[in-house]
Amino acid sequence: MTKRVAVIGAGATGLATAYDLAQSGHSVQIYEAGAEVGGLAAGFRDEAWDWTLEKFYHHWFASDDAVLGLIDELGASDKVLLPRPVTSLWLNGRIYPMDSPNIVTANLRLPVSLIAKIRYGLVGLYLKLFNNWKPLERTTAQAWLRRTMGREAYERLWRSLLIGKFGEYYDQVNMAWFWARVYKRTTRLGTFEGGFQAFLELLAGRLRDQGAEIHLNTRVTRIEPTTDGRLAVLVGTGREVFDAVINTSSPHIMRRLAPDLPADYADRLDNLKSMGAVVVVLALKHQLLTDGTYWLSLPADQPDKSRAKFPFLALVEHTNYMDRAHYGGDHLVYCGDYVPPDHDYFALSEDELAERFISALSIFNPAFSRDWIRKRWVFRAPYAQPVPCVNHSDALPDLRTPLRGLYFASMSQVYPWDRGTNYAVEMGRQVAGLVTDDFGHQAQSGEPTEKR
Ligand SMILES: Cc1cc2nc3c(=O)[nH]c(=O)nc-3n(C[C@H](O)[C@H](O)[C@H](O)COP(=O)(O)OP(=O)(O)OC[C@H]3O[C@@H](n4cnc5c(N)ncnc54)[C@H](O)[C@@H]3O)c2cc1C
Repeated sequence: MTKRVAVIGAGATGLATAYDLAQSGHSVQIYEAGAEVGGLAAGFRDEAWDWTLEKFYHHWFASDDAVLGLIDELGASDKVLLPRPVTSLWLNGRIYPMDSPNIVTANLRLPVSLIAKIRYGLVGLYLKLFNNWKPLERTTAQAWLRRTMGREAYERLWRSLLIGKFGEYYDQVNMAWFWARVYKRTTRLGTFEGGFQAFLELLAGRLRDQGAEIHLNTRVTRIEPTTDGRLAVLVGTGREVFDAVINTSSPHIMRRLAPDLPADYADRLDNLKSMGAVVVVLALKHQLLTDGTYWLSLPADQPDKSRAKFPFLALVEHTNYMDRAHYGGDHLVYCGDYVPPDHDYFALSEDELAERFISALSIFNPAFSRDWIRKRWVFRAPYAQPVPCVNHSDALPDLRTPLRGLYFASMSQVYPWDRGTNYAVEMGRQVAGLVTDDFGHQAQSGEPTEKR
């Protein structure tokens, strides 16, 4: 029995949802506002490069079973690369490698007192071994970490990273989210031969082979119930009717697209908090982080990023992770930050934003000069990082909305894990399962279905 299903968004969630629904034999239409599949994980390619590069820095952890499992199903596991790059922290004007082969030695080198090093190490170990996250969501990461590892270790080593990622919300983020970050982290970091875009295109190709249609540059403007209990999707001047619609965009967009959602569900969407992301990507003629660091976390001393010491949170030298031969010999560097969508960084012109970020680079390599820059790109996303506050699980909107046949699966519902393509795939497949179950129940209750 075939049902007509619409998926809104061709990011990792939408593609994974569509993949399972198409495999179950349903007729799937995917509507994507952007020019390519991939959403936040999409890549771009300069004419000098063989591989694509993610617009926003991306890697997988070796523990990302859902996405690595899907790649295996696609028969492409041989294309997954899982090296062990150097990730470091900038403290007191120098770089401290954090994942060096001997984690104990790395901890002992940190510029804090011996007691702070010991407490920091023990708390990290405890979080790695502990696996009952639920009670942790009742408290903030700040309160829990201060209590367990002490003020010095928390304030020197973790507080600044929470501020960097969550800005003014940093002291509201719950401890379950923090636990999940430590618990799932691995020192091996993964990517796909050709870049994430190559994986996303492979998945999109399989979908098309299964008969699904992907409509790029096609923005959905409204979802509304029809009088016969189905759902109409409005695209431009067109109107298509479906048995089920899965929206994978943001809570804010969901609210706008589906004004018929009952107030209780709409309130849940309104109450979700999130941060935006901005990155400046540079193709350089020389290596910037000459110690080989791939990922350098920078301490944020205060939530107002425009007054912070460093104008961004992370300096990521992609070609200290992947061979620059794939990128025509360029050294590729990201300067990235998370800020609220109304922050100055979204209003500045690309040149102005790039200028602010580039002006900090000589801190990390005094030899850096502007004539090292061959090319630069700026990418911005207003919805990029959900903020999980205390008791977040009580605030989450269900994947199944109260409107019959309408489902919502977004980054904000990934929890307690930090959002990522792994969880996008997991949630996409979970929502496909719900849709299939609901079709099954409708068939059992004798509702009419269309034959293929
Ligand atoms: C700076 C940054 C770093 C990250 N690092 C990592 C990492 O290292 N590893 C990792 O795995 N993940 C990482 N992520 C997270 C990862 O990108 C996301 O979790 C994942 O891509 C989310 O996929 P999604 O499909 O849920 O959402 P999205 O990718 O946002 O897809 C939603 C899609 O819906 C489309 N859309 C929206 N509205 C409409 C409409 N009205 N009509 C039609 N289409 C619409 C959008 O264009 C978009 O393509 C990072 C994200 C950011 C921002």
